[in-house]
Amino acid sequence: MFDFLKTKPRVRMAPSPTGNLHIGTARTTLINYLFAKSTGGTFVVRVEDTDKERSKLEFEKNILDGFTWLGLTWDEFYRQSERTDIYKKALARLIKEDKAYVSKEPGKKDPNETVEVVRLRNPGGTVTFDDVVRGPITTDVSDLGDFVIARAIDDPLYHFAVVVDDGETGITHVIRGDDHISNTPRQILILEALGYTRPIYAHLPLVLAPDRSKLSKRHGATALDDYRAMGFIPEGLTNYLAFLGWNPGTEQEIFTLEELSRAFKLEQLQKSGAIFDMTRLSFVNREHLKRLPENEFAKRLADFGVTADSRLLPLLHERVSTLKEAADLLLSDEFAFLGTAPVQDATLLVPRVKDREVSRGETAEHLGTVLSLLEAISPSQFTAEAVKEVVWPYAEKEGKGVVLWPMRVGLTGKERSPDPFTVAALLGKEETVARLTAARTAL
Ligand code: GLU
Repeated sequence: MFDFLKTKPRVRMAPSPTGNLHIGTARTTLINYLFAKSTGGTFVVRVEDTDKERSKLEFEKNILDGFTWLGLTWDEFYRQSERTDIYKKALARLIKEDKAYVSKEPGKKDPNETVEVVRLRNPGGTVTFDDVVRGPITTDVSDLGDFVIARAIDDPLYHFAVVVDDGETGITHVIRGDDHISNTPRQILILEALGYTRPIYAHLPLVLAPDRSKLSKRHGATALDDYRAMGFIPEGLTNYLAFLGWNPGTEQEIFTLEELSRAFKLEQLQKSGAIFDMTRLSFVNREHLKRLPENEFAKRLADFGVTADSRLLPLLHERVSTLKEAADLLLSDEFAFLGTAPVQDATLLVPRVKDREVSRGETAEHLGTVLSLLEAISPSQFTAEAVKEVVWPYAEKEGKGVVLWPMRVGLTGKERSPDPFTVAALLGKEETVARLTAARTAL
């Protein structure tokens, strides 16, 4: 048997492959991972696929792909369906030691049929465990009676398999969702019968929707894939999910996975349910996007299925919170000016300012002056800063609206677009001059 006090922590994440990876499961996985990494311990993934009808390989793949995408790599891997001999042996041992017994009873489906189930001899009384998050929890287990642990000697029930696996693989800390609290006393009874050392339990509060109910499909996205499709990146998601139920106790909000792995402490888990807040997630994701070097940002966009004009990358990079936002912006009208020169529209070019009517002639003159000011900049130095430096004093003197509006509309043909300096730099000197000349002529 394992003397785990002498070993480093060994934790496990035990997903049932009965659906795609849920965002709450991703959070529990992350907490297990962080605890293992922060202590130099071992992170085990165990696929709980004993329910043959509901377990599907495609779900297992989705869950494991999700872990990998988030960067939550495991040190050891087990699949319950490959461990039936181990459960069988453990069950036989319990029967031999008379801690469990075969009971012949009428079948549930067909009461005329006799089935042989295995029941645990329940010593009764109370079971107390000291939960890291909840504190001591005491349950009267007498009511459970001699509960069933296997439907047949080769068909163990879920609780039995969990306990045998935790015991045989030397799991020291069971960190899981608090929907498993009610299972724990039963599992402790099985564990004591088998003679395993009791792990430390930490039951994480559920992830809640803004209305404080359990986060479910009716609140919107619940699958990790949904968040991936919304353009969140692993760095943003892991940072945000870590803070759902944990707090470093400092001001620092933005952490890489590695920084989280160093900072994490099991004692800092919070008791109350954590509310999933999209605005907050977007903020955290944006910070991580900003920290990506430009070429990496481009790569993430490409992986997301978006190829952006390299001139636009810096603009997108500073503006978006998700990759999807970047994709939407690129498809939007706002950047259409890059590819095609606008049809110059005199009515739109003339600015509307307060108190007075601006004439077409006056507007043409301002454009003329802007054109002459731009002559001072060489094509290779045609940056947004350089353009601003020469145009800004003139715009301040004459009025920003009357100078900058026709300049921007002349370049883009749009009522809304990025500022004229950025746009000019994106287009380059030659194209800027051509468009502004065309605008002046149209007036
Ligand atoms: N397979 C269980 C689930 O997906 C987890 C069991 C456990 O963590 O003990 O909810």
